[in-house]
Amino acid sequence: MGYYTVIEPKYYQQFRCVGGSCELNCCGNWGNIVWTDSEYEKLCSTEMSEELRSKVNSSFFKKEFKGIQIWNIRQQDGECPFLTDKKLCELQLTFGEGILSQTCRIYPRTALMNNAVLMRNCYLSCPETGKLLYDNKDAMEISARMVQVRGATLGVSATVESEQNFNANPSLKYRNILFDFFYGLCSDENYSIETALVLGGLAAKNLSEYELSGKHDSIPDIIKTLKKQINTPERIASVDSINPDNRIKIGVIGTLMLDMAREVKSLNILESLCENGSIDVQKYLLGEQTVKKLFEGHEFYFRNMVLNMLFELKAPIYLPQRTIYENWLLICTCYSMSLMMMNAQALVEPDINLILKAAALLDMSYGHNEKLSDQIINFLKDRNFDKSAYIALMLK
Ligand code: SF4
Repeated sequence: MGYYTVIEPKYYQQFRCVGGSCELNCCGNWGNIVWTDSEYEKLCSTEMSEELRSKVNSSFFKKEFKGIQIWNIRQQDGECPFLTDKKLCELQLTFGEGILSQTCRIYPRTALMNNAVLMRNCYLSCPETGKLLYDNKDAMEISARMVQVRGATLGVSATVESEQNFNANPSLKYRNILFDFFYGLCSDENYSIETALVLGGLAAKNLSEYELSGKHDSIPDIIKTLKKQINTPERIASVDSINPDNRIKIGVIGTLMLDMAREVKSLNILESLCENGSIDVQKYLLGEQTVKKLFEGHEFYFRNMVLNMLFELKAPIYLPQRTIYENWLLICTCYSMSLMMMNAQALVEPDINLILKAAALLDMSYGHNEKLSDQIINFLKDRNFDKSAYIALMLK
């Protein structure tokens, strides 16, 4: 039995599922609720009514997921068939929480294990996470503590700790110090979160040059140098002086979002920004102004959202095949996409809860879908928008 450091944002312990009164209800919106063989067998070997058994038999089916066979629940009219009229889980009501699969039990919590550090947070796809980030300025303050780990009880949903991963991308060995560096950069309130993301892009580009030339072991030294160089007053001033180019920003992010229309579940919201099939700059700016006004006094939400994304998208490095810079590009693009979705919702109905729900809906696509993340990176690469100068245009 080992000891690990658990790192989590302050809001993690405050999170509570609101169940039947949820505006989004995860059980009603997911198409991929994972149950393992043993979880499914445990359910099947439990005594239940004929009616419930027949529903279990007809609802569960086997499929391949990330290279392994899992059980899935067939949705009915876009909802889990075990969701009752009061939007509660019939399985949980009948047998208690212990019968649920880990996916059902821990969502929206997620965790990543690397080099004896367990990082936990909640997905923004649950609107309650967004509300915590909106209500509490200090929601993303991190705490670290040593704990004794007992099997899977910490809900480790992903790990980078495998020899295969470390061999495929030796930068992963330095994941924890890389995370601390980028998290520190984005937490610094001496500059805006957009400036932080641009500075992060410059740092990520620099680090990836070392990665790509096989000098992974230089990463700790490079970080020490970057800490002194990356956020000097001169550099911040030069980033701040970049003029926004709405035509490029809205054009690229809008095309990307419309391109992914089938996967971005909230296309109907996005349509409020459209004119003749593409995003209209004036409508976007109107939505942006509305969001700005509504978030007065809660501007910290946007920094909190990015900091949560660093956890959620497992920045700055997770999959062996992606570089630090590609991951950073993904964070910046997802942030920009979220803003577009929030601006669109503000035009449809300027209500804080609905705007947070729109961000949650978008996160359901990019926060849970590696294939979609690859699609985003490839989209930018194919159009030569993967340069660090573009990051500034995308965020300004
Ligand atoms: S989306 Fe979040 S608050 Fe809503 S039912 Fe799911 S876990 Fe609970």
